[in-house]
Amino acid sequence: MGKPHKTDGANGSNGLIFVVQRHQATHLHYDFRLEMNGVLKSWAIPKGPSMSPSDRRLAVMVEDHPLYYAGFEGIIAEGNYGAGTVEIWDHGTWQPDNKLESPLQALRNGSLEFTLNGEKIKGKFVLVKMEHSRTENAWLLIKRHDQYAVSGDYDGERPTKYYKTASH
Ligand code: MN
Repeated sequence: MGKPHKTDGANGSNGLIFVVQRHQATHLHYDFRLEMNGVLKSWAIPKGPSMSPSDRRLAVMVEDHPLYYAGFEGIIAEGNYGAGTVEIWDHGTWQPDNKLESPLQALRNGSLEFTLNGEKIKGKFVLVKMEHSRTENAWLLIKRHDQYAVSGDYDGERPTKYYKTASH
């Protein structure tokens, strides 16, 4: 008797995608996007995701993006919204971990538990809505403790090649 094949997404076999796009606009940020119900739910993370559970990374929820945008990298021309350079910083698949709620319901309830299977960021995370913040749509992206978590400051995965881009 064989065990049923496990398709929980942790090995990339389940097709929900995520992407992190490093966006050097007026202010550097990382656009974190999760496929959900046919769109990309999106957050702008000024410091980028962290693999350290002691970091609580501000993640400002922004408008949904179409799925095809997950493949975008390049230059957004001057004069357009978000003008600057976009590069794919990480991508992979994700899996919702809330047991009793759909991912959309979990978002409405302000706490989405999930597992990422990317190249740089992996394992369990939570996005938590901040109830009392002066920033609108403020969430926190926090790494859960698991075998992928690292301790201390997490800055090592941030590429530097665009840091010296001249401002306009
Ligand atoms: Mn952006």
